[in-house]
Amino acid sequence: MFEDLKAPEADKILRLMAMFAADPRPGKVDLGVGVYRDPQGQTPVMEAVRRAETIIAARQRTKSYVGLAGDPAFADALRRLILGDAVPAERVATCATPGGTGAVRQALEMVQRITPDATIWVPTPTWVNHHAIIDHLGQKSRAYRYYDAADGTLDREGMLADLAQARAGDIVLLHGCCHNPTGADLQPDDWRAVGDVLEQTGAIPFIDIAYLGFADGLEADAFGTRHLAERLSEVLIAASCSKNFGLYRERVGLCMAITSGPGPRAAAAGLMAHLNRQSYAFPPDHGARVVQVILDDRELRGMWEDELSLMRETMNTNRAAFAEALRAETGSDRFGFLAGQRGMFSLIGATPAQVETLREDHGIYVVGDGRLNVAGLTKDTIPGVARAVARVLG
Ligand code: PMP
Repeated sequence: MFEDLKAPEADKILRLMAMFAADPRPGKVDLGVGVYRDPQGQTPVMEAVRRAETIIAARQRTKSYVGLAGDPAFADALRRLILGDAVPAERVATCATPGGTGAVRQALEMVQRITPDATIWVPTPTWVNHHAIIDHLGQKSRAYRYYDAADGTLDREGMLADLAQARAGDIVLLHGCCHNPTGADLQPDDWRAVGDVLEQTGAIPFIDIAYLGFADGLEADAFGTRHLAERLSEVLIAASCSKNFGLYRERVGLCMAITSGPGPRAAAAGLMAHLNRQSYAFPPDHGARVVQVILDDRELRGMWEDELSLMRETMNTNRAAFAEALRAETGSDRFGFLAGQRGMFSLIGATPAQVETLREDHGIYVVGDGRLNVAGLTKDTIPGVARAVARVLG
């Protein structure tokens, strides 16, 4: 059965991780993999997480199965964190999933089941796994303009013009905040304009929110998701706790479907549980429980919010310092956009050959499309990376 099998091409980012690990040069810099790093270059377990794990270890008396949709207390806590009071709980179907990736897959599988002919509208560019999952499921997709590479900002006019062509029932994929890979986000006015287009076309938004709290704060980062939730009768949401709780390997995600009312909510919840049953039955519980304990405990929640603020400030400080170092190296404001973008990622506009030169000649690892993780920078590495980028990108 495996004699003639050709293995699928390995994921580019995972391949880059392996190359970095094998590189013996001491000064190498990893700006590829999408994990947060503190100013010491570490990805530590958050203190609030450590405390929650201690509480769970002391209290937990069984590891027996939970439900097919996971623990409702986790779903409730994360729903409130993301949606606030934007929409009554009676309209929201929820299901715990293995990571945000699991939630993206779950939401798209629901679409495939319910409306197999729907077109999924995908921003250009987007997280590579969006394309991978849509293709895997055999769904129709269309690209919409999103990013103006010339000045590193949102292509608002292009985006709105393309989305105006969506049909009722089509799905419009949006990044809730910290767009991956561009770092160019919708501002409140852009969200309002997208809301207008969605109302006019009848297309349904699907918001992938994997970095809540990484841009400008928990409330500000939830604006777009809440705005669309308030205005529209149906919204799909895929949430991840990998980054903002630092729970990467625990696989904590939540799929939410905002529906028009209790009847459709029950049907959507039933479909989600059914889809979980076919794939892996029960979603992972430990990380979800950690999140729920933190969010429902005043002291732990305060501690987590403080730690999250520090992570956000580190990234935004790195952005400003890197843009400044590049200004000094290039004598121009060509990379000034880096300071205004948000989240871990930005595109530096490098060709594949320039990405290779950065890696081979300078030991600087960025993804093939020129995506760079600003959290991978530190005070000590910023000057050298800026010098190399200025030299290689000319
Ligand atoms: N969506 C986007 C846009 C992401 O960047 C990520 C993380 N790379 C995810 C979803 C999900 O990540 P995870 O499955 O690790 O929670």
